[in-house]
Amino acid sequence: MKKANVNKSGKSTRARKVTERARLISGASPNVATVEELVTANRILYAQSVLDGYGHVSARHDTKAHRFWMSRSMAPGLVTPGDIMEFDLDGEPVDARGRGTYAERFIHSEIYRRRPDVNAIVHSHSPAVIPFGVTNVPLRPIFHMSGFLGTGVPVFEIREVAGDTDMLVRNPALGAALALRLDDKPAALMRGHGSVTVGISLPQAVFRAVYLEVNARLQSEAMKLGSINFLTSEEARLASAMSDMHLSRPWTLWKYEVTRRNPA
Ligand SMILES: [Zn+2]
Repeated sequence: MKKANVNKSGKSTRARKVTERARLISGASPNVATVEELVTANRILYAQSVLDGYGHVSARHDTKAHRFWMSRSMAPGLVTPGDIMEFDLDGEPVDARGRGTYAERFIHSEIYRRRPDVNAIVHSHSPAVIPFGVTNVPLRPIFHMSGFLGTGVPVFEIREVAGDTDMLVRNPALGAALALRLDDKPAALMRGHGSVTVGISLPQAVFRAVYLEVNARLQSEAMKLGSINFLTSEEARLASAMSDMHLSRPWTLWKYEVTRRNPA
């Protein structure tokens, strides 16, 4: 088996290369290409039933690491390039021009602040994940597509931080508490609310959001049948590295489904 390209922090660099290659082919400047890719990510996550009228996805700015891109407050499936706004790491828009912002933008700002390795974030309320945030059953990698869960999936309990709330991460302190709970992991659950997945690129963060939901669905099904033989931590590590090498395959398909433009 070919060895995965893994850096010192254990993360594959291939996901980023997929993005860079696409930029070179398109000839677009990095920021323009990232905005276009972010629009595509919004459309994909809606098409894959990870986001519905709610939830959001963001990407770190290409040339200003203390900034990130995210849509104005609207349904992700309808986002266009003109809806993408630039934010600072306090979660404040750089140039709002009257456009509304997502109340939970602090999920993104505080994770980017704490995690320099993260270049893309998805916050979702996808339903199959919810039971694992409200019970003591941990979400674990049930098949090779979700090997990235092998390092553990922390659960963020907002009540521990802020008591009774409307469950939304609507200020920097709550965002920082969520980022702290996420720590160095690729995904975290939010009790009674949803989840967050991160990646070194949009294709990786989107892949993880899709397969977090699939894993949750399969794990719930398997639990009805009997005890589950999960991936070992080493199987999960190897499978995750393999998936990272082939992110362009699902990304190309998902992009085609939402654009009907064949990239070839
Ligand atoms: Zn939310």
